[in-house]
Amino acid sequence: MIFKNSKKVVEGFVWDENLKVLTRIDHSGAESRYGHFTRVIARPKLVEILASHVPEHKLHRGKRVLTTAPIFDDLANPNSPTGVTVTCADNTKYSGDILVGADGVYSAVRQSMLERVEPNASITDRESRKRAQLPFNCTCLVGQTHLNLDETNWMVTKHLRGQPEDKASACDENFRCSDWGPEMVDAMIKDVRDFPVPCGKKVTMGDLIDASVKDDISKVMLEEKMFETWHFGRTVLMGDGAVMAIQDAAVLADLFYHLKSNDLEDITRAFETFREVRFPPAKKAFNTSHEMSQLIEQSWINDLKRWLANYMPKFFWHMVYDGLYLDQYQVSFLPQVPLRGYMKPVAHESMIAATRTV
Ligand SMILES: Cc1cc2nc3c(=O)[nH]c(=O)nc-3n(C[C@H](O)[C@H](O)[C@H](O)COP(=O)(O)OP(=O)(O)OC[C@H]3O[C@@H](n4cnc5c(N)ncnc54)[C@H](O)[C@@H]3O)c2cc1C
Repeated sequence: MIFKNSKKVVEGFVWDENLKVLTRIDHSGAESRYGHFTRVIARPKLVEILASHVPEHKLHRGKRVLTTAPIFDDLANPNSPTGVTVTCADNTKYSGDILVGADGVYSAVRQSMLERVEPNASITDRESRKRAQLPFNCTCLVGQTHLNLDETNWMVTKHLRGQPEDKASACDENFRCSDWGPEMVDAMIKDVRDFPVPCGKKVTMGDLIDASVKDDISKVMLEEKMFETWHFGRTVLMGDGAVMAIQDAAVLADLFYHLKSNDLEDITRAFETFREVRFPPAKKAFNTSHEMSQLIEQSWINDLKRWLANYMPKFFWHMVYDGLYLDQYQVSFLPQVPLRGYMKPVAHESMIAATRTV
């Protein structure tokens, strides 16, 4: 289903405002080297496909988690929670042995967890304070054409480096707010309507916007940051990049499959293994994504990078992409998908070994 509803990326371009090609990046060898191309899919479609595989009674839609709290059977032992409870905006509560926060970069689960870490641990006291003012680098307008053009996913990025007024006006409660209301969307639409786009003769952003369902267009922040603290007590956090989030879920599922008991000790060991296995590839993906984003930023140094990118030898791009594509992971409790590319994934076996030690 995902394959059918997505499109492969064979090459990428950077154009200037007159639609002159500044940079071309060739991805055509990805399939033979890694076994697959990068694919793009509309986010709502991916969510719909994933949700269709989960029994409906296990999904609680429209819930907004506000806080989380550990459960203690023995109040005299505050370092050994026996469970964890989440409280939602509609005042419903859910409890369990483990809480996996997959609620994005402005995670309420992360905020609650860091509040618990801060008073009694030195590992993240600086981090939690620093993260309370999450900086962000871009605002984006995102949408998808449905009406009279072929389905096209589009995104307009406005870089904010050195524009503190944008940062300040965007959001007051950094952790709890990740987008803007309709009036901010309209203002950004007005700003970008006349941008030419390479989708046909004299097509502008305005044409794509008019061909999109208005309610589906949103303005979001795009942040560049990585968190150091991934777990505390019975809570663990996942997700840092779309592919990363899916791989995180696979590694966690495998670790849970091999969990010996629901004792805090075993759970902590599983969470530590999770971070050990996933932090290095997440950091690598973060750095690569930062480098690639500079190809669309404005400054003379980025002009130079765009120009140089055209002349980089193939082995340079292999080095860049090997770092991302070769971190493939398969859960051990399902039949293994045969490797399709001629390059052997680097992380696969070390990850399997790590999950077995839990
Ligand atoms: C404009 C844009 C373009 C991007 N393009 C790419 C790309 O091309 N490739 C790529 O790899 N990555 C891309 N990313 C990054 C990618 O979307 C994220 O890294 C990825 O979605 C992270 O997944 P996640 O599951 O951790 O969080 P999210 O996808 O943010 O999902 C979090 C979910 O939690 C829900 N939620 C949040 N708070 C609460 C709460 N308090 N209670 C209950 N639910 C809550 C949200 O509604 C959401 O459904 C892009 C991001 C943006 C903004």
